[in-house]
Amino acid sequence: MILIDGKKAAAELREELKKEVIQLKSKYNTVPGLTVILIGELAPSKIYVKNKEKSAIEVGLKSEVIRYPETVDEKTVLNKINELNNDVNVSGILVQLPLPKHINKQKVIETILPSKDVDGFHPMNVGNLSSGYESSVPCTPLGCYLLIKKIEPNLNGKKAVVVGRSNLNGKPMTQLLLKENCTVTITHSKTKDLKGECLKGDIIIAAVGIPELVKGDWVKKDTIVIDVGINKTEKGIVGDVAFEEVSKVAKAITPVPGGVGPMTIACLLKNTIECFKRIQK
Ligand code: NAP
Repeated sequence: MILIDGKKAAAELREELKKEVIQLKSKYNTVPGLTVILIGELAPSKIYVKNKEKSAIEVGLKSEVIRYPETVDEKTVLNKINELNNDVNVSGILVQLPLPKHINKQKVIETILPSKDVDGFHPMNVGNLSSGYESSVPCTPLGCYLLIKKIEPNLNGKKAVVVGRSNLNGKPMTQLLLKENCTVTITHSKTKDLKGECLKGDIIIAAVGIPELVKGDWVKKDTIVIDVGINKTEKGIVGDVAFEEVSKVAKAITPVPGGVGPMTIACLLKNTIECFKRIQK
């Protein structure tokens, strides 16, 4: 069984990106810049943003965090996004979610210029991804995809089962696998026989938010299992996959923590660099 080391893969990706930033600097005499807008004082959001800032600086990007109190009005945020859209020093814009209730998430997402949308949430990027065109891809599924490709570079004809259909994870994951010629089944809370569906997968991606939902007898031998879940339980942080059981049958599996999580931020940096390159073009 291969334990897919997300920390190592993310460190390798960051090294590659660092080199690319040096090349871009010598070519364009400037480096890509990531601007994050953080609203409010939610502890997990503050931690994520701090990690994003640290990682961006480490690979040589310009990094800026704009902080607003929880009470900031929607118009102020939208005006700031428009200002950043027009700022040539900003290659990527990310508004940390979740937002306070009085701020319309969709309006915020749609105000970000698609070419600077490092999260890949803008409808234009969602559409481009599903049409098979160039687009920003949401960071977590992109990280999963890169981990899968490390284990199995040729996914032609593989049967993939995606558990969960969120816009953040399941749906973009499905598009990425379709692009690689997988036959994809996307499952959700109303799926009739989830175990039966999972048993057909050569690849299973679990992005549900239910601790250890995918059991050992749901997985056939030699399956690649990617666990996106991050669930706080009495025994600590666990994924959506029952790791002990599933690791006995799977060909390869991501641990939680230390699997998909570290790849997410590395992919955000990758997306920032891709946005910069597209803007330069
Ligand atoms: P979400 O928006 O809550 O979506 C969950 C999906 O799971 C929905 O499509 C839901 O189906 C489906 N579902 C719920 N119960 C199910 C069941 N019993 N059987 C099959 N499907 C079921 O969640 P998310 O934002 O995608 O996040 C999923 C997990 O990933 C969470 O644990 C989250 O913390 C974690 N996460 C990790 C990272 C990372 O960097 N590693 C990033 C983001 C999220 P319906 O559509 O029918 O409701």
